Formats: sequence, C-alpha cells, structure tokens
Amino acid sequence: MDVFDVPAVPEWLPQHLRDEGIESLYPPQGEAVEAGVTEGESLVASIPTASGKTLIAELAMFSAVARGGKALYIVPLRALASEKKAEFEAFEQYGLSVGVSTGNYDSDGEWLAQKDVIVATSEKVDSLVRNGAPWIDQLDCVVADEVHLVDDRNRGPTLEVTLAKLRGRNPNLQVVALSATIGNADELADWLDAALVDSAWRPIDLRKGVHYGQALHFDDGTQEELRVKSSEKPTAAIVRDTLTDDVDAEGNVVEAGGSTLVFVNSRRNAEAAAKRLANVTSPHLAGDELAALAEVAEEIRGVSDTETSDDLADAVEKGAAFHHAGLASQHRELVEEAFRDRLVKCVCATPTLAAGVNTPSRRVVVRDWRRYSGDAGGMQPLSVLEVHQMMGRAGRPGLDPYGEAVLLANSHDELDELFERYVWAEPEPVRSKLAAEPAMRTHLLATIASGFADSRETLVDFLEQTLYATQTNESGRLEQVMDDMLRYLEVNDFIEETESGRLKATGLGHTVSRLYLDPMSAATIIDGLQQAETPSALGLYHLVCRTPDMYQLYLRSGEREEFTMEAYEREGELLGDAPSEFEESRFDDWLSALKTAMLLEDWANETDEDRITERYGVGPGDIRGKVDTAEWLLGAAESLAGELGLGSAASVREAKKRVEYGVRDELIDLAGVRGVGRKRARRLFEAGIGTRSELRNADKSVVLAALRNRPKTAETVLANAGHQHPEMDDVTPDPDAAPDDVAEPRHDDSDDDQSSLGDF
Ligand code: ADP
Repeated sequence: MDVFDVPAVPEWLPQHLRDEGIESLYPPQGEAVEAGVTEGESLVASIPTASGKTLIAELAMFSAVARGGKALYIVPLRALASEKKAEFEAFEQYGLSVGVSTGNYDSDGEWLAQKDVIVATSEKVDSLVRNGAPWIDQLDCVVADEVHLVDDRNRGPTLEVTLAKLRGRNPNLQVVALSATIGNADELADWLDAALVDSAWRPIDLRKGVHYGQALHFDDGTQEELRVKSSEKPTAAIVRDTLTDDVDAEGNVVEAGGSTLVFVNSRRNAEAAAKRLANVTSPHLAGDELAALAEVAEEIRGVSDTETSDDLADAVEKGAAFHHAGLASQHRELVEEAFRDRLVKCVCATPTLAAGVNTPSRRVVVRDWRRYSGDAGGMQPLSVLEVHQMMGRAGRPGLDPYGEAVLLANSHDELDELFERYVWAEPEPVRSKLAAEPAMRTHLLATIASGFADSRETLVDFLEQTLYATQTNESGRLEQVMDDMLRYLEVNDFIEETESGRLKATGLGHTVSRLYLDPMSAATIIDGLQQAETPSALGLYHLVCRTPDMYQLYLRSGEREEFTMEAYEREGELLGDAPSEFEESRFDDWLSALKTAMLLEDWANETDEDRITERYGVGPGDIRGKVDTAEWLLGAAESLAGELGLGSAASVREAKKRVEYGVRDELIDLAGVRGVGRKRARRLFEAGIGTRSELRNADKSVVLAALRNRPKTAETVLANAGHQHPEMDDVTPDPDAAPDDVAEPRHDDSDDDQSSLGDF
C-alpha cells in the first residue's frame, strides 16, 4: 500500500514518511490499515521484531489526534519512555504536542491534560488512574507496546488491569496492542475485542542456527564453516568472521564486513564481553573510523564521571560497546548511534534491552540462554519468545542479503537441545498472571479505592474484563483468590463493608493505594512502626527491606552464618520478632532483608561506593536501585505513620533523608543543597561549614579550599545555597580548610561523584 493511499491520516503524514524513505507500507502495516487502525478500530498486531510496529502505532495515534483526540503510548520499561518521547517529538513540527509521564507515583499529572500524545509506563498509568487524573477519560487511542509482557509475573498484571480499566472507563476506546510473535495472539484479540494482524513477515530473511565445533548449523539444514582458533572463544570467532569481508575466487569483495550484536545474561557479563571483544574489533578499524570513535568515546566520558563511563569509552575507542539498563540514556543513545553508523562493530547487550535497541546488525549471537532468576533461586532458561526477539535483530534491510542469528553449543547434545528448545520451537503462549496473590490484593484495593467497583458483584464484573477471565476455564478460581484477598484487605483495615453491604476503602486503604504499595508491604510497615517510638535507621531499613515491594539481595555461600551473627548482634534494633532459625525459608528472608538493610546503612554512613559493591557483591546500579526503592518505601512509611498518628514519623523522615543523600544525620541539611553530594558535604563540614545557612554566609576562600580548589564547582554550590556573590574571581583557597584527601585539581573541573550515585 502506497503511503499516499492510507485513509484518515493527517495530511502531512504521507509526505513526511516519503521524506523518511518510506514509500509504501510493509505488508503487516497494510493489513493493519485494512483492519481500520487509522479509523479508530482496535487492533492486536503480532509481528516479528523490526517489522515496523512503531509505524502502526504512529498511524493510529496521529489519526486519532487529527480527529481532535488524545493518545496514550504505554512503554514496557521506564528507560524507554524518554526515548519514545524523543521519537514522537520529531512530529512536533506538525503541531503535535508530546508529554512523558515518569517520576512520582502520587501525582495526578494534571499538566498532561494539554498534550496530544502521552508516553508512560503501565505502572504510571495505573497510578494516574488511582489518583484520578482527569484526562484519563479523554483518551481516544491507547497503544500498548510489547503487550506480550502481560505474561510477566511481576509487571504483567498491572498492564492487564490498566488496559481493562481504561477500556472500562471508555467503552469506545481504541486499543492498539503491539506484540512480538506469540502462539496465542488470537486470545489477546478476543480479550480486547480487537482485529488481529498475525504475521510472520519480515523485511529481511532470517537464518536461525547454532554454532558448534567449527561450523554454523542453520535451520535450513545447511552448514557453514566458522573456525574457532584454539586461543579464542566462539563469540570472538564469530565477531571476527563477521568483520571479515567475503571474497570470491578472484579476490573481489562479495560482501563487506559487518557487525554483531551479542546477547549475554547480566550487566557485568555485557561489560566484560565488550572489553574482551574490543580486542577483536580493533584490528579491523580504519584510520578515519578510529578518529570518529575517539570522538564518540570523548562524548561518552563527558556524560558521567564514573568507572562505567570510562569502561564504555575504552571499549568504544576500540570498536566495541556494551548496552544495558544500568547505563545513562545518553550513553545508550551514543552507543546505538555509533552502531547504526557502523563505527561500533560489536555491541554486547542484556536481554532486558533487546526490545528497545533498534540496531539491526548482520549477525546476532545469543551467547547466554540461561539467566539467574531470583524466584527460582538459580539459572533458568530464557523463554523462546525472548530468544526469538533477540534473534529478530539480525539483518539490516537493504544492506544484507539476510540476517543470521545463532546460539552457541558446547557439545553435540547441546546442539540438538538448542535446536529443539529454540530454533525449531514456537514461542510460548502468553498467559495472564493476575491470579497471583500480590497482584490480586494490590489491584483489588486500587479498584475499590478508586470507586471503580463497590461490591463483590461489580468486582467480578470488572475481573471479567481481564485477560485472565478470557483465558481461564477453571471456574471459580478467580473468585476464590478474590475472596481470600478481600478478607486479607478487610482484616488489615484497608477496606470495610458498609451497612448496606457496599465495599469501600478506609482512609488507610486510600493512602496505601495512592502510595502504590502492595497492601502486604503496608501491613508489614504499619506493624513494624507500632513496635518502637524511635526506631534506628537500620531497624527501619530492615523493615522496608522485608516488604514484598523490595527486591532483596541474595545470601551468597557463607553469608548465612555471617548475617545470622549480625542478626543477633543487632537484634535490639530490628522491629518485630525474628522467625525461628528452624523456619528456614522465613529466616533466610529475614537475613536477606538484613543484608539489604546493611547495604543501605553503609550507604547512609558514607561508606565509599567501591567498598559497598565489593562487600555485598553488587554493581553500582544495584546500589542505586536499592536506594531508590528504600526512599520510596520510607516515604510511604512516613505517610502511613502520619496517617496513624504514630510517634515514629520523625525517625522515618531522618532515615529516609540519610539514604536519599547517602550521609550521616549531621550532613542532611548540607547535602540537600543542589550540587553538593555526600563527599562535598563531608568536606565542607570538616572545614567548619555545617549547614545550608552557614554555607550561604561562608568565607569564600574556605569554601574554595574545601571543594578542592575548583572555582566553577564552588561558584555553583554557593549560588545554589543562595550566596549573594558566589563569584570566585581572585579568591585564594584557605590552606587550613583544605581537606586531608585533597588531590591535584583536574583539568576539567569535573570532580568526583556528585550528582549522587554515578551513572544510571
Ligand atoms: P519494531 O518496532 O517492529 O521492532 P520498528 O518499528 O522499529 O520495528 O521498525 C524497524 C525499522 O523499519 C525502522 O527503522 C523503521 O523506520 C523501518 N520501517 C518501518 N516501516 C517501514 C516501511 N514501510 N518501509 C521502510 N522502512 C520501514
């Protein structure tokens, strides 16, 4: 279908597409248009990666806006929200406005009412519904990206319930659900009363296979020699082979060298693999490529001043890179761009971001097909769906004759296994996870609190709108879980039954729902806070780490003993009774929570990040993750303490501030000044400046010395503290105020740490 023949789109759109090099729609896009996606019809599109799903979403949203409507785009990952927004902002030249809603869960995002297109995660949309955002009712078109994630145990139910609620509030809502190729897309279409486009069409052919021994074995039965030298690993051999030009008998290049995308199972592995593979890519770089890569590396270093940033730049200089959710978004963009420009020859990525990286490459290597799973307590195979999505990244339309995607086998048996398990296999059907208890109790409370349902019957009606109801044939199961959970909510005072038999949320229940807590987290926190008037910071950290909303650290071997000792030593500080050592799994949870709490305590005691990562066996991104979650949960605990009039609210607030800034209590005030992180606060404190107001009135030579003679930093900090004349011209540092750990000032004035925890 020619782009000029698409009905009901805004008049500028066809020419815009043509200018972008899109003359006609891909076949699945054409099918979507025939199904009425530009005319307000709901649609489930289950099509392979890189087959143009984004354009289907854009066609739907922009035609809705052209009719005077408003559209919502639900992203699967927070890290992708701003990237999608930037993508849609390219259309602002046509008068379209775009807003992204991230950040706190307890606001109603009123300003978004003005925007034509809103981008948000399902958690955020769910919380906006709970907080009564008025514009939710004005939506005409909702796009759910990666809708197969309703299958995800942790996040799936929120997406499912959010879609059900949005549809419940507006029966005419157009829902466009984009999915990877799955076995049961028809069930999703049934659920959403939507037309179905279920297509295996790809813009470029894909050969799937397995590397074993000295050859690639493909699904069409062919084999291709690919030698692994005795000194190298298979991945390196494949990257090397892909980089090498294919020549014919006369020595003419038949196919120029290409790039490889390598999927591994953890951030750390991605970084390590990139470092190793950089040695493979670097001999293949031409002089002008080296110069261009050096520039990219410099930009990467400029994004943040951390080891990760340096490591990434070091690899990029040599033509390789890593890519994972722990990188700053600017890092990711720089890597993706350099890969698309064919400067970076090899990217090592984690599966989480497989869906987000729009970076086709000649070959894809799925190096790790097992991943550590906390739920299972060990390594678990990836799903067929995930592996196929990664494989789908192979092949650059217009550049390669076909893409190749391979797994790696170590033995003949494994070769067979991988063919069975992944190459030949159909993706698993997507199944609702709503009947899981944490999901059910959270969403029932939210549904009641937002007035969406006020009786058992209306709740059942609502649950009937979910995918779970469409899929289950076990009658009564959903109602049984529902009844159990309603009882739990009632016992814990989150809901009550009125005299007329209506269900309503209590004041406490409203607070819990608004705070976006799992009701079980709230119950745990309330119980703990009632145990002590002035709990210690560790006690509070342990309390929030015990809730189901905190993803705890695992105990490594030998740590059970270590943390059992700690548990006895710090027993007096921990809130509530410890389970007996004989109840093994509950006791281990208690210890895991203690380990996590001690990490937070170390952070709040100003221990260096490096020491923390070493002591707890975590990466800097993990510290950031724990700190963020703890901050949120402690904020929620403070609200709950306030709601219940508990005396512990002040201690909670202090513990929260300490973890937020990573400082002891005497630095809380100073560290709250923008540009002053934990280290600078400590240096200022040691130079005799103890508070924000002392900083405002401080002697400039003392401030300059305490901030390691960096005039620009000192000026910024003073200005942020509200100093009348922050200029540092002609100020000489006071030698008595110089910190003991003073180093030679660096040329770029960039200083260590500050913004807080490195680059995330
Ligand atoms: P998906 O979201 O399905 O993984 P994308 O929407 O990112 O895939 O599309 C992959 C690439 O294909 C993008 O670079 C996009 O610009 C391009 N593309 C999409 N539709 C067309 C088309 N009809 N003709 C040519 N290129 C297209």
